[in-house]
Amino acid sequence: RNHGIGSWTARRARRTPDRPAVVYGHVQLTYGQLHDRTTRLAHHLRGLGVRPGDRVAYLGPNHPSFLETLFAAGHLGAVFVPLNTRLAEPELRHCLADSGASVLVHTAAFEAFAGSCDVPRRVAAGAALDERLAALPATPLDVPVTHADIAIIMYTSGTTGRAKGAVLTHGNLIWNSVNTLVDGEFSAGDVTLLSAPLFHTAALNMTCLPTVLKGGTLVLEDSFSPTRTLDLIERLRVTVMFGVPAMFQQVAAAAGFADADLSSVRMLLCGGAPVPEALIRTYQERGIGFLQGYGMTEASPGVCLLDADHALGKPGSAGLPHFFTDIRIVDPAGDDAARGELLVEGPNVMRGYWNLPEETATALQDGWFRTGDIAAADEDGYVTIVDRAKDMIISGGENIYPAEVEKALHEHPAVDDCAVIGIPDEKWGEVPRAVVVLAPGAEATAEDILVFLDGRLARYKIPKSLVFTDALPRSGAGKLLKPHIRRTYGTTS
Ligand code: ATP
Ligand code: MG
Repeated sequence: RNHGIGSWTARRARRTPDRPAVVYGHVQLTYGQLHDRTTRLAHHLRGLGVRPGDRVAYLGPNHPSFLETLFAAGHLGAVFVPLNTRLAEPELRHCLADSGASVLVHTAAFEAFAGSCDVPRRVAAGAALDERLAALPATPLDVPVTHADIAIIMYTSGTTGRAKGAVLTHGNLIWNSVNTLVDGEFSAGDVTLLSAPLFHTAALNMTCLPTVLKGGTLVLEDSFSPTRTLDLIERLRVTVMFGVPAMFQQVAAAAGFADADLSSVRMLLCGGAPVPEALIRTYQERGIGFLQGYGMTEASPGVCLLDADHALGKPGSAGLPHFFTDIRIVDPAGDDAARGELLVEGPNVMRGYWNLPEETATALQDGWFRTGDIAAADEDGYVTIVDRAKDMIISGGENIYPAEVEKALHEHPAVDDCAVIGIPDEKWGEVPRAVVVLAPGAEATAEDILVFLDGRLARYKIPKSLVFTDALPRSGAGKLLKPHIRRTYGTTS
């Protein structure tokens, strides 16, 4: 029997065949139709030689074929490998080669790239494929799949280095969905808007899969626009949306925001990066529950969730660990500490990194995943993420967390964006340097900004130098690309 996520379309089609599963522009698929298309695609993939355990990669923005390929791979016991469309071609080639994908399914926009790849088989989503699928049987292929089998290889965002393939089992994804359903508020009547890319773990695993489990409707958008978001919310009576903080900032800043009818929206899910308090307030004031999540690809991804009731009572917190997931905060010796590295254990934690046995052995010890994030917990157990350990600066034996310095810099009205890095120093080992983007039209000297930090931060945390730049490199999820920034601005000159 198939116990994996590949069986979900069949199970949903038995229960709610006529409910809308996917809305994409003018395309609408019921659960019955989604299952029918998925099963035919599974036959097609099997015809191309896909067997249990083989990797099937997908390259494209949000589109119904993403979901059809995900579930068709699961139907066959094959491994789904979603690729990040924002990667540069060499990075995409690396992910394809590393995963050893035997088939690449792609949307029309990636035709040229797909043609230049040496992946054995390519499948273009579109009218020609639809015609072929119509000629194939829609009878299920009864491939046994267990919770321990690999469901997807999902590459990490590559914020701190080369992206690593996190090996996630069907059990990992199912337990992550259970955690999300226990701590979030999904329901059968949900209309879930997804304009954040499905190839990222939060959109796929915390939003799309829980919606499908409950039998709600997914509204897929292949790109994000704040005004279209407001329009879709009103027109389709959207109840749930996932986004990174920058997306919700843009929606709140859109011209139509004040007058938009947001009464249908029950829950906004936000995560992937620290969420500013003012942003939470903006939405809560409109009567919308704002949930903030902390997690990572390796944990499928949910680790902590700050529920709407505590969103403002615990400012800056990432919330409590999920129901079935445990955490520890430890010092470098591995003993429990008030502040230190966050470790995660639970049925949602990955099996390891694909093809990286050494990194796996370092990251997973006795079942605990070392997140590389520094965290602290308050007396109620609410977790605050301080910064990544890799970004920490050690100056004269004192630890400096750049995120804290960046937060103080952001309070200066002339600062539009900023990053803090460590630069080598003969006396102190390392000293902090600020790289600042001034707000349009703003005028401030390095001296003005550094003096502003006096009294707001301990002396040793105040950057010893400040350089200006026009823009800082950020990832698609809005994260500062620190290795890049260190390479460009990290010399002593
Ligand atoms: P890579 O591991 O390849 O360097 P990445 O860590 O950015 O990239 P993801 O798995 O997408 O890849 O992101 C997880 C990381 O994002 C976490 O380890 C944490 O550093 C950060 N993060 C996620 N959610 C939050 C949050 N709510 N607050 C602060 N940081 C967060
Ligand atoms: Mg990471």
